[in-house]
Amino acid sequence: MNILVINCGSSSLKFAVFKLDTSDRPLCSGLIERIGTAAPIRIAWNNAGQREDVEIAPCQHRQAMQWLVNKFDQLGITATLGAIGHRFVHGGETFRQSVLVTPAVLATLQKCLDLAPLHNPANFEGIEQTQKVFPDLPQCIVFDTAFHATLPEHAYRYALPEKYYSEHQIRRYGFHGTSHSYIARKTRQLLQENRFDARGIVSLHLGNGCSICAILDGKSVDTSMGFTPLEGLVMGTRCGDIDPGVCLYLAEKCQMTAPEISDLLNKKSGLLGVSGVSNDLRTLLEKEKQGHAPSTLAIELFAYKAAQSVGKMMVALPHLDALVFTGGIGENAAPMRARIVRHLQCFGLTLDDVANEASGKTAGGFIQDSRSRAKILVVPTQEEWLIAQETASLMSTPI
Ligand code: ADP
Repeated sequence: MNILVINCGSSSLKFAVFKLDTSDRPLCSGLIERIGTAAPIRIAWNNAGQREDVEIAPCQHRQAMQWLVNKFDQLGITATLGAIGHRFVHGGETFRQSVLVTPAVLATLQKCLDLAPLHNPANFEGIEQTQKVFPDLPQCIVFDTAFHATLPEHAYRYALPEKYYSEHQIRRYGFHGTSHSYIARKTRQLLQENRFDARGIVSLHLGNGCSICAILDGKSVDTSMGFTPLEGLVMGTRCGDIDPGVCLYLAEKCQMTAPEISDLLNKKSGLLGVSGVSNDLRTLLEKEKQGHAPSTLAIELFAYKAAQSVGKMMVALPHLDALVFTGGIGENAAPMRARIVRHLQCFGLTLDDVANEASGKTAGGFIQDSRSRAKILVVPTQEEWLIAQETASLMSTPI
């Protein structure tokens, strides 16, 4: 049975088809962009290593999904599909694990849309449209928040009066759960294969969005993102942790409205805001070589805060066995890994520079040197594969 994984954003749709018993690489995958805009739709299609780029007339999610169905029909993929797995960002306190889509689940899910207004409505739209074009296939939902359902209360509660938690569900939820869950499994496997201890792992996911997770015996025990994906590390365009007093000042003294503050903190800050140039680390590393001081500051700030967050996560673990880098930056940017680990010498964490330079997307692996008190690894994340796995295991669970 093949499984189709859908990750539907407000203007994009990522998809991948997996044959689970053979490999963790998809049979085919792709990205449909600019959905719902006035511009032509761009489709990047990857089929067994062959890349194809297509442009079609501007359209909405429904038509983009129909394009996908037609393509699957042409390639004989539709008949091989046994189920569909969807990524859903925020399941709140209701959805603590993956679920099979039913009318009751959809009705409850609708009440969670406001929890992540930038993501959940698009994820929901993706499920509705997929049901229309694949009415006979069972569908499952895998939540980004679910892996963090095991956080202890002292880690998930804010120091606010209780009624804000009980009446408004204001608490820390955590995100990037599919990535951290994959890293937890894969790292344990890699450590055990090499006869190393594998109880305490810190997973550092650095992409456009960035988060860190403390994992004890395979379970999330703390993480950096909170009520929203804005808390924690410096990110591509998000500021991460700042004094909440800054928001009050912006509102009172700068007369900024809530949407304006949200736009500033979510879309105009982070690497982009500090450098004034780009949210893309590759651009900033280039700019740094040309002596552009704001780019250097953005890189330094990013590395320092990421390193600080490793210390925070270590508090949640009895012992650190491994620190793992993943995500677009974590997997590909050896200079950033080096800068982060340089701040961690006080914990006895040290890198092998040659191994660090050699590790990347295609070849993850161990990058610590012989003096390091814990293993340090690069592990390419496989969020779509994890969603496919979860979907397959839900399908085999008797209801
Ligand atoms: P998203 O969170 O959107 O999935 P990704 O995980 O793809 O993002 O990460 C995007 C980030 O990874 C960008 O900042 C990009 O510059 C960075 N990145 C990708 N490849 C490299 C590379 N070879 N060197 C440095 N940074 C890289």
